[in-house]
Amino acid sequence: MEAKEFKEFSSAMTNYIAEYLENIRDRQVVPSVKPGYLRPLVPEQAPEKPEPWTAVMDDIERVIMSGVTHWHSPRFHAYFPTANSYPSIVADMLSGAIACIGFTWIASPACTELEVVMLDWLGQMIGLPEEFLARSGGEAGGVIQGTASEATLVALLGAKSRTMHRLKEQHPEWTEVEILSKLVGYCNKQAHSSVERAGLLGGVKLRSLAPDNKRRLRGDTLKEAIEEDTRNGLIPFYVVATLGTTSSCAFDALDEIGNVCKEKDIWLHVDAAYAGSAFICPEYRYLMKGVEKADSFNFNPHKWMLVNFDCSAMWLKQPRWIVDAFSVDPLYLKHDQQGSAPDYRHWQIPLGRRFRSLKLWFVLRLYGVENLQKHIRKHIALAHLYEKLCLEDDRFELYEEVTMGLVCFRLKGSNDINEALLRRINGRGKIHLVPSKIDDVYFLRLAICSRYSEENDIRESWAEVKASANEVLAGN
Ligand code: PLP
Repeated sequence: MEAKEFKEFSSAMTNYIAEYLENIRDRQVVPSVKPGYLRPLVPEQAPEKPEPWTAVMDDIERVIMSGVTHWHSPRFHAYFPTANSYPSIVADMLSGAIACIGFTWIASPACTELEVVMLDWLGQMIGLPEEFLARSGGEAGGVIQGTASEATLVALLGAKSRTMHRLKEQHPEWTEVEILSKLVGYCNKQAHSSVERAGLLGGVKLRSLAPDNKRRLRGDTLKEAIEEDTRNGLIPFYVVATLGTTSSCAFDALDEIGNVCKEKDIWLHVDAAYAGSAFICPEYRYLMKGVEKADSFNFNPHKWMLVNFDCSAMWLKQPRWIVDAFSVDPLYLKHDQQGSAPDYRHWQIPLGRRFRSLKLWFVLRLYGVENLQKHIRKHIALAHLYEKLCLEDDRFELYEEVTMGLVCFRLKGSNDINEALLRRINGRGKIHLVPSKIDDVYFLRLAICSRYSEENDIRESWAEVKASANEVLAGN
């Protein structure tokens, strides 16, 4: 493709994108296609001769949009949000044009250096203590991982190498295999499944602990488990505290957990994948009290801070436990400036990495902190509006206190009736929700996801839920 055609194609695509997003509300949120719908819509083989870009444009509605779930529709209330904004889309275009693989500083200095500075900006925005930031002058700093799952695994590997190092100093006669077989980590039973998976991938035991009646992991529970395991000859080495659990957006008692981790010299990782974005608003920082006791902290601007996937921000106080422990240094990746700036290949699992900090730079500059705060506050206010509407109807109850942009609610009564309600809501096809279950109680989750959501949309979503409830309760 020549530059002239590229300009025509990209400008047609830009127009298409703007139209798509501005009118997304009018589309059916979940498509009605069946598995295998796409194959008959495209040829069996790749074309031998090039096609014009207009042919591709012509197929987008027919082949792609007919099978898209519209995550940015105000009618989409499933899971947690995934972020989307024009500045971020444009930044990804530039990233695609530069198309560098920034694994070392020299592989593209701007890629590394902008990331270091953006993670400092972002860290300050959410009120992270200086000890996490590169600008503090020490070894600490931030890195963009692809996902929160990767951050949890990277932190676990850091915890593992720190503990291994300490124990080998204290007990030179112990073998690595012996130590590994005794390592045990901890998380809330309500932690995301990626925490358990990090344990499996890292080859260590992970215990999920019972939360209190507000679904929070408490310090005492953690301490008891650690002491029990220590008596049984195990070696506690890693704790994940969740701020904003996936099922119901509950917040672990970070301050209490931090005290236990400090006392027992255990690596504390904070998973604030969704809720972390809210800490740009000072009024929500009480939920991260005790963060200074953590060793690593992670949240996903790609969930709730208008930066498109993938952008998972992670800070480490002592990256050396990852950088040094898992360093392989072949000649072709060495360079003269090694040591004077981070070589991010050592901070992550893969070698290759895109220029993702551009998205942060564009979004932070073009929105400003002020408008990002407005976005968060608006979503939380909309969740409270839904909560109010729901509570005005005495057939319904809340399952969890509403703190962020998630409302966990159910019809008073059996799980079966609530399962029928969800089937009915999704079956009517106007809005989309997913359920969750805690302690055998089935409930529905309504997440405020779209940056286009307005009060009217929430009232309409509530009307849909109410109409579905009417049908289910009438036995229709
Ligand atoms: N942690 C929590 C609390 C989450 O809610 C999620 C996803 O919703 C994750 C981790 C996984 O996030 P990712 O897809 O970035 O790995």
